[in-house]
Amino acid sequence: VPNPHSELVASRLRDVADFPKQGVVFKDITPLLGDGHAFREVIRGLAARHTGSPSRIDAVAGVEARGFIIGAALALELGVGFVPVRKAGKLPGDTVQRSYDLEYGTATIEVHSDAVADGDRVLLVDDVLATGGTAIAAWDLLTSCGAEVVGFETIVELAFLGGRVALGDRPVHALHVVG
Ligand code: AMP
Repeated sequence: VPNPHSELVASRLRDVADFPKQGVVFKDITPLLGDGHAFREVIRGLAARHTGSPSRIDAVAGVEARGFIIGAALALELGVGFVPVRKAGKLPGDTVQRSYDLEYGTATIEVHSDAVADGDRVLLVDDVLATGGTAIAAWDLLTSCGAEVVGFETIVELAFLGGRVALGDRPVHALHVVG
């Protein structure tokens, strides 16, 4: 049964071939963000999964840059704070870092050391799940700061890239799955 959020996302997603490099099909969410009704429906679709006491969330964390847009909107909808996970060198305070492998080279992400309190239940979000490398690094970084990361939420999952498998037993949910 096709779910309405999946169809809504599919209708507002733009495929851009060979961006940022040859062979990659970039899943561009700007048409979704540009449609106020669709944007709100998508955020409400994510929020609906985390309202109610059994799945209480203390904060939403999002990875720079598009994870900020989705994550901040979701945090507002849930009435909780937002934790920015940034590329190295951007946060002004004391930080904790984590590096992870990319196809070529490595990337480093960081959060403020006081961004989460011990035992905080944190929901991690991003726009697209591809190989899962970014999500795993952010998940483990937040965990190392004392958070209990309760799940990873994404708008689009590129299933053929194996991110869900790479994330192992970490709960993953996507509104729209490709491949
Ligand atoms: P990965 O670490 O491989 O799961 O890549 C996830 C990160 O890269 C996310 O922050 C996405 O925004 C971005 N990303 C990777 N592949 C794509 C794609 N095909 N289209 C749009 N964004 C992508």
